[in-house]
Amino acid sequence: MVRTRPTWNEQFLEIAYVVAKRATCLRRGFGAVIVNPKTHQIISTGYCGNASGIKDCIDLGKCYRDMIGAPSGVLYDLCNSIHAEENAIMQAGKERCLGNVIYVTGIDFTEENNLFYGKPCYKCESKIITAGLEEIIFFNKNCKKIKDIKEENIMKLKVADVIIGRKNNPFENQEKQVTILKEKGLQFKESQ
Ligand SMILES: [Zn+2]
Ligand SMILES: [Zn+2]
Repeated sequence: MVRTRPTWNEQFLEIAYVVAKRATCLRRGFGAVIVNPKTHQIISTGYCGNASGIKDCIDLGKCYRDMIGAPSGVLYDLCNSIHAEENAIMQAGKERCLGNVIYVTGIDFTEENNLFYGKPCYKCESKIITAGLEEIIFFNKNCKKIKDIKEENIMKLKVADVIIGRKNNPFENQEKQVTILKEKGLQFKESQ
């Protein structure tokens, strides 16, 4: 029988999944792995959790973001967590981020550890840009189980393209959030 082995992308996303199991959030966990794409060496890993030495949502049994059912993409300040990508970037330091790739995998703890779409949030995206990382790799929305992490389900986002998108539409993230919050009934002043 011919044995097939995972591609590098599949492997690093699966490693990010294992790292995400250490995450402390109540709803979802994320893991990130920063890799040198030329040597395939792992530079650092990170999962989402509170600041070092501070009790996490899981220890306290409560997260305000979870309590109000915050939709994906908004109200990050209501959770104490430092995101997986932020932790991986801090562990590595900018010099070891430059030109490298970040893999991100999410787990939905409420759904028997199914995968959760791993595209970084807008705040992490800003840090990924500033850290000088070159590419973001995550799986698409067809991925529900770890076995679905296959090359054809993997998405790659060039950081240079993210930067161009932000220059063209600097308030895109804010507008998305305002739309979500309006749907939830929050009132906004008419724009000037
Ligand atoms: Zn939380
Ligand atoms: Zn984030």
